[in-house]
Amino acid sequence: MSKLFRAVILGPPGSGKGTISERVASSFGLQHLSSGDFLRENIAAKTEAGVLAKAYIEKGALVPDDLMTRLIIPRLEQMTRHSWLLDGFPRTLAQAKALNSICELDMVISLNIPLETLKDRLRHRWIHPASGRVYNMRFNPPQVQGVDDISGEPLIQHEEDKPEALVARLRHYKDMAKPIIDLYRAKGILHMFSDTETDRIWPHISSLLSSKIPTDLTDAQRATNH
Ligand code: AMP
Repeated sequence: MSKLFRAVILGPPGSGKGTISERVASSFGLQHLSSGDFLRENIAAKTEAGVLAKAYIEKGALVPDDLMTRLIIPRLEQMTRHSWLLDGFPRTLAQAKALNSICELDMVISLNIPLETLKDRLRHRWIHPASGRVYNMRFNPPQVQGVDDISGEPLIQHEEDKPEALVARLRHYKDMAKPIIDLYRAKGILHMFSDTETDRIWPHISSLLSSKIPTDLTDAQRATNH
């Protein structure tokens, strides 16, 4: 079997991580696993872990490391025959170490977006809490103002996306991310991208992945995903 490819994408809220992950998944046939989506699925299915995690997510707090790793690690262990891109995990050094203990990552993509750009994007961000769908009132508004396109349910703005809380939240992200980034840099697998536009970052990520992912793998994965 061809060698599998395992990657992580890191980036603060508003960095375009979700958009880039979707493009990587569709262009290179990697399975996109978002920890936030996975948590929401567990909450919707009322699994034991989902019920426990819900209270933290509603408060805007991180889910504790032991609960989070208990959820994600078995999910990754099931994907032994797939190449994947992990988004939203690890969020802490303890999570990064837990991930290290089960697999060897091939690449870490880190999005380093200027603070002003992040603030500008997040200020206009509204979400549909049940699905995690994100809208931007300036760049990507819903069809009807204040309402989710698919469910018709109301959108909310997170307390932590409101201007007063934003700077503290982004600083907190940076503090948590620093040791994780240092760890991956020391392993020689970190690739950092900086720009104010996702569309300008994407070609660099795309050509990097093209040079690292064997094309036979890309074709095989595409075939199984469609
Ligand atoms: P996201 O969709 O990535 O913004 O995640 C939504 C929420 O899920 C976050 O605000 C956290 O409460 C929780 N969450 C997602 N990933 C993690 C993680 N790796 N560790 C702890 N909590 C997480």
